[in-house]
Amino acid sequence: MDKSDISFFKDGLRLDGRRADQLRPIRIEVGVLARADGSCYIEMGGNKVIAAVYGPREVHPRHLQEVTRAIVRYRYNMASFSVEERKRPGPDRRSYELSKVSREALEPVIMTSYFPRSVIDVFVEVLQADAGTRTAGINAAAVALADAGIPMKSMISSCAAGKVADTIVLDPMKEEDNFGQADLPIAMTPGGDITLMQMDGGLSPDEFHQAVEMAMKGARDIYEMQRAALVEKYGKLEASTIEVKACE
Ligand code: ADP
Repeated sequence: MDKSDISFFKDGLRLDGRRADQLRPIRIEVGVLARADGSCYIEMGGNKVIAAVYGPREVHPRHLQEVTRAIVRYRYNMASFSVEERKRPGPDRRSYELSKVSREALEPVIMTSYFPRSVIDVFVEVLQADAGTRTAGINAAAVALADAGIPMKSMISSCAAGKVADTIVLDPMKEEDNFGQADLPIAMTPGGDITLMQMDGGLSPDEFHQAVEMAMKGARDIYEMQRAALVEKYGKLEASTIEVKACE
């Protein structure tokens, strides 16, 4: 399919019926894996992603140990059945990149100095992909870290904005991502500190500002859903403890 074959808007609405500034439906479930220290399942539109956190635990191989802090490892993996045409299983350039940027999106809020010589492992498995899997993975991983009781300075929430048919849109789905003009995923703290920003395609300075604003608003809305999912599992008392930690 060529992008000229696609009409991205019909009667002012997108291919899936959304307005330009609307997120896809989101569902977040906390603590879905019995053997992980923390876990989270997220659906963001057509994306279905699971995150599992293990640790803090002993580092293997030991030469990776850091004397003053825990190391964080993040493995993003896309299941071969998660996309339309079977994806070759195993790591590839894309999954190495996404693992690196996702780890860097989360690391600034993790209190790694509390756990010297240890490791916090984050595994993200994409079961179904529909664009925005890195943002869905980061959102699930942040909740799974909280579920594992890892001390964090704040939550991290992630969302993308894109450009299709010369219009800035929130949370692009696959057709918009693959055949659109730009994609700009971000991750940030609830206070607005950005820990991830990437850009594919081209945006003018004005469009760039509009896209960042839109993605930040989306991330703020996602934060409320992450928080609500944690409150659902841990109740109001413990959730307020999470808030206190977030303010430290
Ligand atoms: P993200 O999922 O974070 O948006 P990309 O922009 O690289 O990352 O990918 C956009 C979408 O393209 C993915 O969510 C998925 O739906 C599709 N995609 C990515 N890699 C593959 C692949 N190897 N085979 C088929 N589809 C893919």
